[in-house]
Amino acid sequence: MGRAFVYVILGGGVAAGYAALEFSRRGISHGELCIISEESVVPYERPALSKGFLLPEAPARLPSFHTCVGANEERLTPKWYNEHGIELVLGTRVKSVDVRRKTLLTSTGETISYKILIIATGARALKLEEFGVNGSDAGNVCYLRNLADATRLVEVMQSCSGGNAVVIGGGYIGMECAASLVIHKLNVTMVFPEEHCMARLFTGKIASYYEDYYKSKGVKFIKGTVLSSLEKDSDGKVTAVVLRDGTKLITDMVVVGIGIRPNTSLFEGQLTLEKGGVKVNGRMQTSNSSVYAVGDVATFPVKLFGETRRLEHVDSARKSAKHAIAAIMAPDKTQDFNYLPFFYSRVFTLSWQFYGDNVGEVVHYGDFSGSTFGAYWVNKGHLVGSFLEGGTKEEYEAIAKATRLKPAIEDVAELERQGLGFAVSV
Ligand code: FAD
Ligand code: NDP
Repeated sequence: MGRAFVYVILGGGVAAGYAALEFSRRGISHGELCIISEESVVPYERPALSKGFLLPEAPARLPSFHTCVGANEERLTPKWYNEHGIELVLGTRVKSVDVRRKTLLTSTGETISYKILIIATGARALKLEEFGVNGSDAGNVCYLRNLADATRLVEVMQSCSGGNAVVIGGGYIGMECAASLVIHKLNVTMVFPEEHCMARLFTGKIASYYEDYYKSKGVKFIKGTVLSSLEKDSDGKVTAVVLRDGTKLITDMVVVGIGIRPNTSLFEGQLTLEKGGVKVNGRMQTSNSSVYAVGDVATFPVKLFGETRRLEHVDSARKSAKHAIAAIMAPDKTQDFNYLPFFYSRVFTLSWQFYGDNVGEVVHYGDFSGSTFGAYWVNKGHLVGSFLEGGTKEEYEAIAKATRLKPAIEDVAELERQGLGFAVSV
């Protein structure tokens, strides 16, 4: 016995919130849509967890950052879902899905059936154990994926103020959390395996700028190595991080940001998977025509690059979710998704944006000793990617537009000379 819905969204994160708004705009009846989420709160803007939520003064707290405020849209509170007749099954994990029978089984033992399923299960943080290091269960080892993690991180940071923190990983979580730890007056050491931070996106020159800035705030970098073990006291708290070369870092807390894995396990053997995600077409439809996938978990065709990608960023989650609902509700009027990849970050007083793809030859421009600089990526004679730190709204719009147009670049030296002016004049 169980309930039946026309539409079920599996997952209650960013993509789920934007999908719900799109459903309501396009017109659904009360009782047609259900959202099932392991989290106990309605969808919120996950990026807030590593930014406003961690601030020592006037921190952001729910309900202020429920979706869809991040895109300057309506803020969907529990009341909103209630008023729109959207059923919320919160704090409930889906244990299995049968796409042939169109049913889901929840952790409470309920079977929920659907006509159309939207997979929005996002991703989980990789644990140290997956790299052969034990210690994730220690009270002062923090990860950051959901509200519970963020709440714990704040408590641990506050209890360690003035002490030492080790950040494992030089990606997004590592960089954004390190900045917050500094603001909370901790002495921060970052440890990661690559030659420089944000290795998957930044060039060495761009990374140097941010590393120098972090160093000026007291952050130490230990690069090209990984941790090999954690030392604990009799209470089970980590007291030191031991690196592969034997270096021991005495610490009061550890923050781990070593990447994610998309939550695809419910669909293995049932749907086509690719590049770690659930493969979808330009309508965000999976290999089963009644099932759609959006957000971090979806591997979709990026028309601009002529290949499929799985992106782990909020703008992609928002727009892929909206697109899937458009394709479901107005199939004849909906073209294939034509997405321009967009990544960004904000730390201290710094702020950068990136559009497109970071492949090919790199052209840096601007003042790397000042506050505004950037880079272009040129591949096969065309501009394919643009990065800008410290831009204005109009300048960011200009690099986005230029990147989408993929203009031919005949003279790379001239592009370097024109710098930001090139994008502005395209
Ligand atoms: P999620 O938002 O992760 O939502 C997935 C949901 O599915 C969760 O509610 C989860 O509990 C639920 N779920 C999973 N499995 C099940 C199951 N079996 N049963 C029930 N529920 C389930 N991106 C940017 O572009 N800019 C940023 O500044 C930025 N900052 C970030 C900061 C942090 C701390 C984090 C963690 C991510 C950040 N991101 C950022 C990435 C961005 O938040 C993600 O790309 C986005 O949240 C993906 O949305 P999603 O809906 O696909 O997945
Ligand atoms: P990232 O993939 O950005 O970075 C992971 C980092 O950890 C990389 O530097 C990686 O190196 C390194 N690493 C991997 N294994 C180890 C190890 N054993 N020891 C030390 N370092 C290791 O993931 P994050 O965890 O930082 O972020 C998680 C998710 O959250 C991502 O999807 C990200 O997009 C999202 N996020 C996005 C933000 C934004 O867009 N502004 C902000 C915060 C989070 P290598 O590359 O060699 O594997």
